Amino acid sequence: MKTLTVNKNRLKSEFLNLVKISSESKNEKRIAEYIADIFRDLADEIIVDDSSDKTKSNTNNLIIKIAGNNPRAKKILLCSHLDTVVPGNNVKPVVYGDTITSDGSTVLGGDCKSGIAIIIEVIRTLKEAEIPHGDIELLFTVAEEVGLLGAKHLDYSLIDAKLCYALDTSGVMTLVHKAPSANDITFKIFGKAAHAGLEPEKGVNALKIAAQAISMMQLGRIDHETTTNIGTVSGGKATNIVPDYVELRGEARSHSSEKLKAQTDSMRKAVERAVADAKSEINAELPRYEAEIELEYEHFDIDEDEQLITLAKRAATEMGKELNVLPGGGGSDANIFNEHGIKSVILSTGMDKVHTMEERIDVNDMVENANLLLNVLVLIGKK
Ligand SMILES: [Zn+2]
Repeated sequence: MKTLTVNKNRLKSEFLNLVKISSESKNEKRIAEYIADIFRDLADEIIVDDSSDKTKSNTNNLIIKIAGNNPRAKKILLCSHLDTVVPGNNVKPVVYGDTITSDGSTVLGGDCKSGIAIIIEVIRTLKEAEIPHGDIELLFTVAEEVGLLGAKHLDYSLIDAKLCYALDTSGVMTLVHKAPSANDITFKIFGKAAHAGLEPEKGVNALKIAAQAISMMQLGRIDHETTTNIGTVSGGKATNIVPDYVELRGEARSHSSEKLKAQTDSMRKAVERAVADAKSEINAELPRYEAEIELEYEHFDIDEDEQLITLAKRAATEMGKELNVLPGGGGSDANIFNEHGIKSVILSTGMDKVHTMEERIDVNDMVENANLLLNVLVLIGKK
C-alpha cells in the first residue's frame, strides 16, 4: 500500500525557523505568536487560555482547532511544548546535510521544536492533499521543562478531544505508552550550632545526621519500575561551626503508586531513625527534621490494545515499518493530560541528546516520525 509522505524540505526549513526563535521556559510569547500566524489560514479557531497568571510565563497555552470533514472520525489532540531548556537563547543551527546541531554554545531546542515542526508539517500536508480527517485539536503548552506548568494550569474546558498524541520523545517510530509517578522530596534536618573547637559537645551536627540518613537509604534503581535519588545536600556555614541545618533534596519515581509510596516512606524513615539515634541530653527538641513530599506527577499506563496504540501500529505496518512501544522513564505533559481524563501517549520526534550542547537531529528521522503521525490521522479520518 502506498502511504502518504510529508514534504521533507518544508519540514526541515520550518524546523530551522522554529529553533531560531528563542523560547526558554516562561518566555514563549514570540514562538506562540509565530505558530498562531502559521495557522491563521489552516485552522478554524485559534484560542489561548489564561494560564499565564499561574505559570508566570509571558504567554498562555495556545489551542488551535481544525474542523474535520468526517464527523464519524474520533477527535484527536496533538500536543507539543513551546519551551526549551537553558541555554536556549539565540540558537544558531548548524546544518550538515540532513543533520542539524547547534553551534555548541546552546542547546538546539529540538525538544520540542521538532514536535512542533512535525505537527505543522502534518497539518499542512493534510490540507494541501485535501485528505479526509476528523476534528483535530492542537495544543502548544508553556513551561513544560520547569514542572509541566502549562499542562498543570491548562483550562481543560477548552479541549474536547479525549485521545492525545504528545510529540515529545527521542527515537524513530517510537511510542511511549507508560510513564512513572514522581515525588519531589525535601528533608530539613535541624541540629544545633556550637564552636567546633571550643565546645563541640554543645552542638548537634546536622550534617552527620544527614550523612547517616543517606547511608541508610536505598538509592538508585530499586527495581525495574522504581528509582530514587538524593540529588543535593546543602547546609553548614564554616569549618569551625558545628552545622545546625542541612537540607537534602531528592526524588522517587515509580510506575507503581504503591512502590512510590513505599520508597518515599522508607527514605523518610531513614531520616527519622538517624535523627532518633542522634538524640542527646543537650536539647529536648533537637535534633529534629521536617519532610516535604510533593507528588510532581501521576503515572500513566495505556494498554497496548487501546486505539491510540493500535492505530499507530497499523500506520507503521502500512509504512512497512515496525512501531517500538516502550515505557518512559520521566514525566511530561502526557502524565498531566492522563490525570485529566485525556488518554495520552507520546510519539518520537527524532530529537537526540536533548538538554545538552551536543543536541542534534537527523531530518530523515523527523520525516519518518511525521509520516507516522500523518498516516495515523489518515486512518482516523477513514473511520
Ligand atoms: Zn520535551
